[in-house]
Amino acid sequence: METEALAEALRSLAESLRFYQAMGVTDLPLGRDYLPGPEGALQRQEENLQGCPRCKLSRGRTTIVFGTGNPRAGLMCIGEAPGADEDVQGKPFVGRAGQLLTKMLQSVGFDRDRDCYITNIVKCRPPANRNPESDEIAACEPFLLAQLATIQPRVVLALGSFAAQALLRTKEPIGKLRGRVYPYHSMVLIPTFHPAFLLRNPGQEFRRLAWEDLKLARREYERLPSR
Ligand code: SF4
Repeated sequence: METEALAEALRSLAESLRFYQAMGVTDLPLGRDYLPGPEGALQRQEENLQGCPRCKLSRGRTTIVFGTGNPRAGLMCIGEAPGADEDVQGKPFVGRAGQLLTKMLQSVGFDRDRDCYITNIVKCRPPANRNPESDEIAACEPFLLAQLATIQPRVVLALGSFAAQALLRTKEPIGKLRGRVYPYHSMVLIPTFHPAFLLRNPGQEFRRLAWEDLKLARREYERLPSR
């Protein structure tokens, strides 16, 4: 058990160092709290991300939308990018799509704040809500990977075509990707429809399929051991 705890602490330290390196930090004085838990590590990552100029999305944003939820969550939901409401409030999934996401999670027994951590592929709003571009995804990827390594969820729920394609590095449409479990680092990844897509397409069929995906996520969450 002690070995596991040490390995986890070293993994967290390695990810933190990679994060600082990505931010251009070359000199890191180590204090007494250099092995923070997930709460401290995420807080520090968010603080260090403030003012990030690494891609052109920095020019139009109001706020960096880092992520919200339980730093020790077993389920991590990853969307595409902040929208207008998120850009103003600095939190992911706060508009109508966010309300639907909360209900979708509740439908399979997940409490959004207690059981989940929610973030996006890129942390700044693209102009006119366009899709993030490949250079922007690449620039922001170290921050998402640092979040994943810190939280170490059992299950990643990829919300929408764009997030699923970016995470799985494929061009397959969401209709083909969803409904299956993919190995993803030391976790599993389950793609499903973005709640905004479900709002635009209110027919029952897409909602039924999304519910099937959520039930699959719940089964995987129960099946895999907590960390
Ligand atoms: S999207 Fe990511 S990499 Fe680009 S400016 Fe925002 S935080 Fe930095």
